[in-house]
Amino acid sequence: MSRAKKNTTTAAAPQPWHSMAPSTVLERFKSNPHGLTDQEAAERYQKNGPNRLPTYKRRGPAIRLFLQFHNLLIYVLIGAALLSLVLGHGIDALVIAAVVLLNALIGFIQEGQAEKALDAIRTMIDPHCSVLRDNCRHSIAADHVVPGDIVFLDAGDRVPADLRLLSSHALHMDEAALTGESLPVEKHTGSLAQSTALADRSNMAYTGSYVASGQGMGVVVATAQNTQLGQIGTMLQKVEVPKTPLIIQMDQFARTLALLTLSVAAIAFLYTTLIGTTPVADAFMAVIGLAVSAIPEGLPAVLSITLALGVQRMAKRHAIIRRLPAVETLGAVSVICTDKTGTLTRNEMTVSALALSDAAYDVTGAGYEPEGAILQDGQTIDPAGHPGLPALLEVAALCNDARIRKSGSTHVAEGDPMEAALITLAMKAGQDLAQIRHQFPRRTALPFDARHRFMATLHPDAQGQCFAAIKGAPEKLLAICTKERNAQGEDRPIDLAGWHKKIGQLAAQGQRVLAFAVKSFPADKQEISVQDFETDAVFLGCMGFIDPPRKEVASAIKDCHTASIHVVMITGDHAATATEIARQIGLSNTPETITGAELDRMDDPALAAAITKTDVFARTTPEHKLRLVEAFQKQKRVLAMTGDGVNDAPALKRADVGVAMGKKGTEAAKQAADMVLADDNFSSIVAAVREGRTVYDNLMKVIGWTLPTSIGEAMTILIALFFGLALPVTPVQILWINMITAVALGTTLAFEPTEPGTMSRPPRKSGRPILDGALIWQVLFLSVLFLAGAFGVFYKAQANGLPIEAARTIVVNTLVVMEIFYLFSVRYIHGSSITLRGVIGTKAVLIGVALVAVGQLAFTYLPAMQAVFDTRPISLVDGAIILLIGIALIVIVEMEKKIRRTFFARKTGKI
Ligand code: ATP
Repeated sequence: MSRAKKNTTTAAAPQPWHSMAPSTVLERFKSNPHGLTDQEAAERYQKNGPNRLPTYKRRGPAIRLFLQFHNLLIYVLIGAALLSLVLGHGIDALVIAAVVLLNALIGFIQEGQAEKALDAIRTMIDPHCSVLRDNCRHSIAADHVVPGDIVFLDAGDRVPADLRLLSSHALHMDEAALTGESLPVEKHTGSLAQSTALADRSNMAYTGSYVASGQGMGVVVATAQNTQLGQIGTMLQKVEVPKTPLIIQMDQFARTLALLTLSVAAIAFLYTTLIGTTPVADAFMAVIGLAVSAIPEGLPAVLSITLALGVQRMAKRHAIIRRLPAVETLGAVSVICTDKTGTLTRNEMTVSALALSDAAYDVTGAGYEPEGAILQDGQTIDPAGHPGLPALLEVAALCNDARIRKSGSTHVAEGDPMEAALITLAMKAGQDLAQIRHQFPRRTALPFDARHRFMATLHPDAQGQCFAAIKGAPEKLLAICTKERNAQGEDRPIDLAGWHKKIGQLAAQGQRVLAFAVKSFPADKQEISVQDFETDAVFLGCMGFIDPPRKEVASAIKDCHTASIHVVMITGDHAATATEIARQIGLSNTPETITGAELDRMDDPALAAAITKTDVFARTTPEHKLRLVEAFQKQKRVLAMTGDGVNDAPALKRADVGVAMGKKGTEAAKQAADMVLADDNFSSIVAAVREGRTVYDNLMKVIGWTLPTSIGEAMTILIALFFGLALPVTPVQILWINMITAVALGTTLAFEPTEPGTMSRPPRKSGRPILDGALIWQVLFLSVLFLAGAFGVFYKAQANGLPIEAARTIVVNTLVVMEIFYLFSVRYIHGSSITLRGVIGTKAVLIGVALVAVGQLAFTYLPAMQAVFDTRPISLVDGAIILLIGIALIVIVEMEKKIRRTFFARKTGKI
């Protein structure tokens, strides 16, 4: 009761909502069955604020910045800076402090950008719901719902606020989020005792629950924090960025590497002090430099920005990522199972053929414009003069929830496109819809459900009896009809064979076929269920709909074929229709089709054999989808599966990448999916796969550049220490290299565009470890090259009589130049980098290189920098030699890449 008081901003309620009659609740909220006016709703929104549950408080910027320092390596560095200070190495301490600060700052900025990008995308799929305002049905963002609003509930909807139900037709809710009960509970509208427990309040629908089946309508009694969910305080939307498998692997690897480096550094320190080649303080500074260069401290931030950029690029291509790991998985997808209607086709339906028991008609016109006519043998006819037609058109108008709205000079469909096409047909036939609906008011409805494939509405008839208007899949209706109505309006035994032939002919042209029937009931019939439609219906006729394929789909399917991705159509439609559409979009010239009924007869081994060569699964139910996902996964295929209905949720959850439709999809499907398609378009899935492959490549490029360069740098110091040689670079210098290259060069790889030929490669094998043989080899190979470069120029410079400071300056510049050239090589992991495109680079790469060049010039020639880093100016000739070394490096690396690809790639399937 206290809840009731809190809820009402517009009324005080002495008793709980579930114990009141619907009319009382409406009264309390100054609402009515036609809904609030727009103005009233706007005022209530002003007063109540958005209908949003509070999210977990995000960490503030200060804490986020502070957390950048909360890292084992940073502690070591801070310790090192303090020790350096104590040991009198003020400059070293300062440089280390600068490295720490810069690293934290970059990490802070990059993380912030990544979070912002992901946040922006999250809001693109905010839930919507259907409300009645000013007696018109509108789809609005769920957070704009206000107390007193009338909300419609359909299968798959998420309840946006707490509702007292005003009507319910076979309404079943999934309340697991609230009560933990996993089975759907039935709802009705009758008042309940005040003491009824929450889980038993069958006349209420609570925020966060889903409509499992049926339809209903309710008045909002509580929003936002006043809802049951808000009060329990559970399930607050936790804003966290989940990690992808690759990032998790990388985190673990980085930690291991950090520990390994610290151990090696400790051993190196002990060894050096024992053999006494280097003074303790210098040795200590050297191992600090070693540790700093080997540990890829900037890597996590670069990886997360790479992912965020990928997610952003996908969103631009209408693919909205809900769960971050899907970004990576998409790149490994080898099977795409897709719906037909709306995904491969435009879902813009036009009725083009009518079939009665002994007459056939064509319909002209396209889209929802009511311009066109009904023709028989090429001649326009007046439907009123053809006895079978008005009854068929009436049933089509009655068993229908769609509307055609005039928007400017065009007509637009609201609701199910197929039902809208029926309204357009009625308009073309000159029917008065309002009059028909007034003459036969709807008592109740059995909504369409993909499992039983028909819809029915109950109406009183002119004789004081009652009848159901039925429309649905032809096979379904033929199975429940015992009679057919002939052109004279008389009922006679149904000619099943004749109908199957007619339906087959329409479907073979790629038309979607819908059948219509009626069934009589006693006058007092008030409710209908699936069991009422098992027999005794009268078949009226069929209609053929044209739903043209989307024009960009054929080329997207071609791309899938070159990328070795198997595309499978899974549809609820007729086998012949689906097969013809599959042929039209180029799925195959002679598509192999299996129906749901055939699938049911197959055991698992038979199905396993069938799925590899099947293009179309027709007349399937959502349960079939789940079975297909499992069958593909048993074959270790990485699978993307589309879905839109509430019953598709299990298959979407189970698929490696569950894809929900943004426009046509239910909230339940979106909730279960990893990715939502803003435009419901198949080609957006293919675009996302392409981006997925790019993101994975870029992540591998970032790793493939960072690890060899960091370890190569570290090896330079390590070798010198172990062999008691003069250090070719000082610890502060190595810190400088690490700082400037990691910041300016490493990050640029996050911006790499898709490599040419990305969609001509087969999908990568999933679950491959990062640190595989290829990467270990790359690290070793590059370390050797870096060592050779560093020591080579060091000794050469000294041999030429240059002082050690100048020699070291040359080494630093050589290492940096080698890293730049290696960056150009890493940019193309699947092809050669020595191409015009490769040399020109991207804007990001060019900015990065320019920054490093300016940095190196300052490092070498600026007196202040010379004082800090103990550097000397170098000659033009030395500069040219350094450049040549860089060029030599890229040539060697490219040759190695080519050899590796030629000899090993085919064998191992790796790059
Ligand atoms: P896809 O699964 O590719 O989206 P689909 O839209 O044909 O294809 P369903 O929505 O499961 O799949 O529809 C299956 C069949 O049910 C349709 O072919 C049609 O015959 C029938 N049907 C679809 N929508 C309705 C409806 N609103 N009323 C009555 N019958 C319908």
